[in-house]
Amino acid sequence: METRVASPPNSLSPSRASDFMQCPLLYRFRVIDKLPEKPSPAATRGTVVHAVLERLFDAPAEQRSLPRARSLVAGEWERLLARRPELRELFAEDGAELARWLAEAESLVERWFALEDPSRLEPAERELFVETKLESGLRLRGIIDRVDVAPTGEVRIVDYKTGKAPPPQFSDGPLFQMKFYALVVWRLRGVVPRRLQLVFLGSGDVLTYDPDESDLLRVERKLLALWEAITRATETGDWRPSPGKLCNWCDHQAHCPEFGGSPPPYPLTVQPRLPEPRTEGSEEAEAEA
Ligand code: SF4
Repeated sequence: METRVASPPNSLSPSRASDFMQCPLLYRFRVIDKLPEKPSPAATRGTVVHAVLERLFDAPAEQRSLPRARSLVAGEWERLLARRPELRELFAEDGAELARWLAEAESLVERWFALEDPSRLEPAERELFVETKLESGLRLRGIIDRVDVAPTGEVRIVDYKTGKAPPPQFSDGPLFQMKFYALVVWRLRGVVPRRLQLVFLGSGDVLTYDPDESDLLRVERKLLALWEAITRATETGDWRPSPGKLCNWCDHQAHCPEFGGSPPPYPLTVQPRLPEPRTEGSEEAEAEA
């Protein structure tokens, strides 16, 4: 059996940043305890669809057709199984279910053709791993689905989502992830990406945003504050559950106090908390109290 070694976090990705913002305890379970999670058909379908959209660009532009893309789905599923044989259990008892699932993956690929024309795109990068270290020492990392660079040098960052677009009032979450990537690209290449583009295959929507430097500096400040909070929780072992909609999909209810469970023993050393430094202001406040 695989041994999972607990270790303090040393970098931040958009998904883990979003975990911490939604529920610090979930972040702990995933990043520090590294508790296993059950694979889901929806997440696995997302992985297959992403692989198809990436692989299609291996072909010359004129051959990037819908039938070709559809034909890649089953092959990418097999390739994924070769790397992660445990996924076979998702459909072990129901061949019809697997056929339905593959057909849904093909529909998502088909919808992409209504939103973008791959024969007119030449991505500069696909599935690009990016990592940078900010001046503060915070390391940011992630994988960008696609980077397009115009002849003028303008950069567009593209991310595919196999789910539906959120209503406009909830678009900050997915845009935060894109601004995170934009900040990393800016720090790495010295160029603020011209456009961030989210392609929602589940609903057929495209959300775009053109960031500027002040946007990205705001994101950087937010990430630094988040990292401070994560560092504090790591040292004190104080990871609060924050129940919400996410609980319905959370694999860790059995370990969550909100559901009557107990977290496993904290695997890291808890640092003793030093008393808050006394300042002139606080002394005055005490004297007035
Ligand atoms: S069940 Fe809900 S509150 Fe508990 S860890 Fe999971 S997301 Fe957090």
